Amino acid sequence: MEFDLIELIRQRTVQARDDVRLGIGDDAAVLAVPAGQELAVAIDTLVEGVHFPRGTDPADIGWKALAVNLSDLAAMGASPAWALLGLTLPQADRAFVEGFVDGFSRLAGAHRLALVGGDTTRGPLTVSVAVHGFVPPGKALTRAGARVGDAVLVTGTLGDAAAGLNVLQQLRRDEDDRDKLRDYLVERLTRPTPRLAAGVALREQAHACIDVSDGLLADLGHICAASGVGAEIDAALLPRSSALLGLYDDATALHFALGGGDDYELCFCVPPDRLSQVQADLSRLGCGVTRIGRIVAGTGVRVRGHDGGWMEPGMPGWEHFA
Ligand code: ADP
Ligand code: MG
Repeated sequence: MEFDLIELIRQRTVQARDDVRLGIGDDAAVLAVPAGQELAVAIDTLVEGVHFPRGTDPADIGWKALAVNLSDLAAMGASPAWALLGLTLPQADRAFVEGFVDGFSRLAGAHRLALVGGDTTRGPLTVSVAVHGFVPPGKALTRAGARVGDAVLVTGTLGDAAAGLNVLQQLRRDEDDRDKLRDYLVERLTRPTPRLAAGVALREQAHACIDVSDGLLADLGHICAASGVGAEIDAALLPRSSALLGLYDDATALHFALGGGDDYELCFCVPPDRLSQVQADLSRLGCGVTRIGRIVAGTGVRVRGHDGGWMEPGMPGWEHFA
C-alpha cells in the first residue's frame, strides 16, 4: 500500500536531470554534484495543527512544504537541484497524496527540481522536505557580513501572509469585492513565492541575506546578531501591498509588516555604491525591491515611527514583537 503511494509520487514528479544518476526506487539516491560547485542543503518540517490548520488543501501543503525550503536556498544565493520528501500520514490516503504532489510538483517543475527520494511512514500528518542546491565555491550569501553603512533592502511586500492568516482565522467571507483582496492575502500565506532568481542576482552584490520567515524584526535581528551590527529601519518605508492597506488600518498593517512571519521575501544588505545596480537588477527580474533602512554600529533593530521618533514597545504596530 505504501509502495503504491511511493509509485504515485514517483510518476507525478518526474524531472529529467543528468545529475541524478539514481532517483526514487533504490536504497539511496545517487547524485553528481557538478564540478566546481558547492552544495547548499536545508530541511524544514510542517506539522498539521502547528504549521498549517487541519483541513488545509493538500496541494497548498505540497507547494508550501517545498516553497519554504526553496526560500532558504534563495537566501543563500543557491540554485535548487534535488529534494527529499519525508511524508508521515495518519492513513494511506491516496487523494491526499495526489493533491499534495500536484502542489509540490507545480513548484518543483518551475525550477527543474528533481524529487530523488524520501520516506513514507504512518503517524500524525507531518511533511519534511530537504532540498539541495548549488552555489559557486565561497559565494554563498550568509547572515554574517553586513557592514556599518550598508543599505537594508527587502524584496516584494511585507505583512501579507500574517494578514492572510488573520483573514482565515476570522472565517468571515463577505460577498463583496473585498474578497479579491482577502484571496490575495490568503494566497500569499498558502502559496509563497521563493525569491530564487533574486537570490542568485544578489550573490555577487549583497553583504548579507536572510529570508523573512519569522517576521522582519526577528529576521533582520538575526543578520545583526550574525554580523555584529545594528540596524535602523523606517516604518514609513516598509513596502506593503494595496490588499494589505485596503483591508487593514495603518497601525495593523505596520504590525503585520514588522512582526508577521511567512512572507518568504528576502531581506539583505548592500553597500550604498551598489544600491542602484541591485535595484536595477532585481527590477529586471520582475522582483520588487525597497530600501527600508541602514546598518549602524551597535546591536539590534530600531524602528523609526511615522512621527520621526523611535518606536517603543506598546506603540501601535510594535506590540508583541519587541
Ligand atoms: P528503504 O526501506 O530501503 O528505505 P523505502 O521503502 O522507504 O526504502 O523507499 C523505497 C524508495 O522510495 C526509496 O528510493 C525512497 O527514497 C523512495 N521513497 C519513499 N518514500 C518517498 C517519498 N515520500 N517521496 C519520495 N520518495 C520516496
Ligand atoms: Mg533499503
